[in-house]
Amino acid sequence: MSFYDHIQDEDPEIFAALIGEDARQAEGLELIPSENYVSRAVKEAMASSLTNKYAEGYPGKRYYGGQEFTDAVETLAIERAKKLFGAAYANVQPLGGANANIAMYFALLQPGDTVLGMDLSHGGHLTHGHPVTYLTKVFNFIRYKMKDVETGEIDYDDMLRVAKEAKPKIILAGFSAYPRELDYAKFVAIAREVDAVAVMDIAHIAGLIAGKAAKNPFDYGFDIMTTTTHKTLRGPRGGMILTRESEEIAKKIDKAVFPGFQGGPHMHQIAAKAISFREALHPSFATYAKQIILNTKAMEGVFKAQGARMITGGSDNHLILLDAWTSFGISGGEAEKLLDCAGITLNKNAIADDTRKPMDPSGIRFGTPAMTTRGLREVESAQVAEIMVGVLTKRDDASIEHAKAEVKKLALSHPIPESFVG
Ligand SMILES: *Cc1c(COP(=O)(O)O)cnc(C)c1O
Repeated sequence: MSFYDHIQDEDPEIFAALIGEDARQAEGLELIPSENYVSRAVKEAMASSLTNKYAEGYPGKRYYGGQEFTDAVETLAIERAKKLFGAAYANVQPLGGANANIAMYFALLQPGDTVLGMDLSHGGHLTHGHPVTYLTKVFNFIRYKMKDVETGEIDYDDMLRVAKEAKPKIILAGFSAYPRELDYAKFVAIAREVDAVAVMDIAHIAGLIAGKAAKNPFDYGFDIMTTTTHKTLRGPRGGMILTRESEEIAKKIDKAVFPGFQGGPHMHQIAAKAISFREALHPSFATYAKQIILNTKAMEGVFKAQGARMITGGSDNHLILLDAWTSFGISGGEAEKLLDCAGITLNKNAIADDTRKPMDPSGIRFGTPAMTTRGLREVESAQVAEIMVGVLTKRDDASIEHAKAEVKKLALSHPIPESFVG
């Protein structure tokens, strides 16, 4: 009996794609730092009959009847999220990380208001004001950058100067391609000085924070955290907004999520979020979060020994941004393709002050959350980095074939787990 009995009988084309993807995930090594593997329990909730139910509104205040079980599910998700991150309020309805950020902006801003966020080429996310997003038609996004790309230090003096001048309503921290911890106290001090709300988008490092392997921005006075639930946090695809203490802000956020931007919440997804939060509250999750960082350090060691150039010189978290152009004389796109042929999945990425074009930038970005879930530790992580170096330096068919066999062996000897709390 497979997970897909009925699909196999009724829709062979989709069945073929599903088992193809299952095999791809089982046999390759996933190094995209925003990806992970969920438990079987999370998958079961995603496949539950809660997908049939409309539950517009919030627990106890819905627009439809029949909410006995949806209220129980959403309340559990909220309570677990609050406990996990030390928040007074949680909205678990955002469908993804982008949706969470959009709702957060509209909750706090009027059209034309200013947001001071991380420069996108220095690690910020599309939803932090990239010109391709419609957000930039409504709000004014201005930037801070790293002072020194080799150490990753943010230019906090310039940030304060810009903030005093531009009077942003939001000081936004957070990133999708930055390998260091931020100085949260400085962000909050600047926000207080210019009377802005301090928001941290923890999408990439939520699991590290939940597992106490990284600092919690709430401990430094951040007002709001937005996040995804499917990256290091290892839950279903989705988003969430956490408020540290202000009921006034939390109310605005609830209104912005529904009815402001979304319709009915995806209750099957919220049940899956609740399950993943329970998993993250289990002591084994702290061990997982610590191991993610140990594994990154093991990979960093190999690239350092090679003399490869890593942006900010290395990593304190789950991801590494490597300058493939300077280190190996090939573009990020070429590096991505070569490694893909060997069964290692990662993505090309622009690096700070990139001299190459966005479609084929200089860098590659990779990380350890998914392979750590499979049980790889420091020794195997270093081995993966060695395999990468082999492919990127030799680049011939024989080396790629050899790497592919090694990757498959590593992957098959570390099957994707079904449970994290058993
Ligand atoms: C991934 C990410 C998002 C967007 O999440 P989606 O679920 O893809 O919409 C937002 N912010 C940051 C910092 C991210 O890394």
